[in-house]
Amino acid sequence: MSYILIVEDEVSLTSVLRRGFEAEGLRVDVAHDGDEGLRLALEGEYDAIVLDVMLPGLDGHRVCSMIRAAGLWTPILMLTARDSEYDETEGLDSGADDYLTKPFSYLVLQARLRALLRRSARGRAERIEVGDLVLEPETRRCTRAGAELTLTAKEFDLLAVLARRPGVAVSKAALLEEVWDLPGDSDPNLVEVHVSALRRKVDQPFAAAGGKLLHTARGIGYRLVPA
Ligand code: CA
Repeated sequence: MSYILIVEDEVSLTSVLRRGFEAEGLRVDVAHDGDEGLRLALEGEYDAIVLDVMLPGLDGHRVCSMIRAAGLWTPILMLTARDSEYDETEGLDSGADDYLTKPFSYLVLQARLRALLRRSARGRAERIEVGDLVLEPETRRCTRAGAELTLTAKEFDLLAVLARRPGVAVSKAALLEEVWDLPGDSDPNLVEVHVSALRRKVDQPFAAAGGKLLHTARGIGYRLVPA
């Protein structure tokens, strides 16, 4: 059974969410301010956290970045203020996995939360190895030949999608859908930019040892092949 933390001070909203989640068989805890939310989140037992930005005490961005700073990668769905593009960017920068702008429909929240829970279940305790490259989705750690690599969230997700299918050419369209939740016909430049950044971190430092892992599949996309 999935265990969800809701951090939100609006009592009517939290009770609607609690009732809805519990009706789906989820276990729910509620915190009504940022400090309490952070304290509960740091216990680390949740499968996902629904976190409002506007909170008494610590605001949602602070709570989110402190959870990440503590090394916890529980999926976080951030609830942001209406018409505030700034909030959304800030939410993702502070380490949230997804955001929803208020007011939202319960069905949309439910779908987005389910997607986060699926990702979190898949990531748990999983260890992906391709040659000397190791990815641990739960802790978001990535090492190559024992050396720790510092990857952004999207770089990690992109590498993980390729690493789960070693040797297979994955199209840019599939990467846009899986890593960014974007339609496959979105601008492939997003993928190319991230692949370049990944090459600098994953391949370049190991080039002398002949250790190229990330290969271009001409006309298709990319594949990760053990060196
Ligand atoms: Ca609020």
